Amino acid sequence: MFKPDLCTLCGNCLVKCQWMNVERKQAIVWQKAMVAGEHSPALDQCITCYACNERCPKKANPFDLHAELQEKFRSKVSEDTVNATEAKYYFTGEIKNIPHTKRIMAACIYEKTEANLLQGELYNLLRVGGKPFFCWDFFWHMGAVSVLKRHTQTFVDRLAQTGAEEVVCFHVGCYMTLFKTAPDFNIKVPFRPIHFAEYLVEYLRTHRKKIKPLNLKIAYQRPCSSRLAPDKEEMIDEIFDLTGVKRVERKYDREGALCCSSPKLMYNMGDTKKDREKNILDAKDSGAWALVYLCYVCRNMLAETANEQSLPMIFLGDIVRMALGEIDVPLKIDK
Ligand code: SF4
Ligand code: SF4
Repeated sequence: MFKPDLCTLCGNCLVKCQWMNVERKQAIVWQKAMVAGEHSPALDQCITCYACNERCPKKANPFDLHAELQEKFRSKVSEDTVNATEAKYYFTGEIKNIPHTKRIMAACIYEKTEANLLQGELYNLLRVGGKPFFCWDFFWHMGAVSVLKRHTQTFVDRLAQTGAEEVVCFHVGCYMTLFKTAPDFNIKVPFRPIHFAEYLVEYLRTHRKKIKPLNLKIAYQRPCSSRLAPDKEEMIDEIFDLTGVKRVERKYDREGALCCSSPKLMYNMGDTKKDREKNILDAKDSGAWALVYLCYVCRNMLAETANEQSLPMIFLGDIVRMALGEIDVPLKIDK
């Protein structure tokens, strides 16, 4: 939620944005207009990467302001597209066989599409997924916050029906909906959401004796949602420490991380090839053997360019499974 009382109109959020080129004087004019609820070109140029929420020195959540106004001015996708997408994911049927357990994994709509990742002992806990457990997080990128407002309560209620005290979020978007969106909308979450990285750290600590250090140098692709919970970066680092993986220093990581550019593609804001290339080349030139991802959209968006540069893409969960000897370190490129 945007906090206007904290905003000092410094303009940093727009000046430091990697997706627009704006001088501070102009940025302040744009920010003033938006705080007043008016349109500004920033709404059209923003690709919804959430980075400004992390960069704002006052923690005023400027992206949340953009999101509200992007819906007001329909800056991102058309109303017809929003409605069609909402209808596509809206589940009206009866949910059968809801498991009851103290701890459950939520796999969102990725249960089927990422079935090859959800393998092995690491995922040996009861799971819910599919359309009834879709987190709606994607609609932040569509400039359609009202869709999230309509469905977040149902998402929380359905997870609560499992009786779980803890919900492990396989999809980082689910965590963001439970950790940020729901509280923003005054929706009570009656269980503890667990970020996937937190789960991996806990699992590694429990199975410490089985770890065989991988001795790999990798680059990390931060997902946009990590900007909303930057404290989880320490856990990402701990996963790499525990598995014997070195996260290379590079321009497009940490605060400087570059969005995979998939929203730019969705908004028809031009060719994304150069954006993808500079990210992948930065990873490769930093001495990384592979690019580790947490978000499947990042992987889908960057895979072709990574493939061209012979840079394997590896899921963070698979790094854990490799270190525990569940799967081999791949020799081939993961497309
Ligand atoms: S939202 Fe934050 S970064 Fe942006 S103008 Fe306000 S205080 Fe500055
Ligand atoms: S969300 Fe990303 S693209 Fe949009 S203004 Fe903030 S930093 Fe720029």
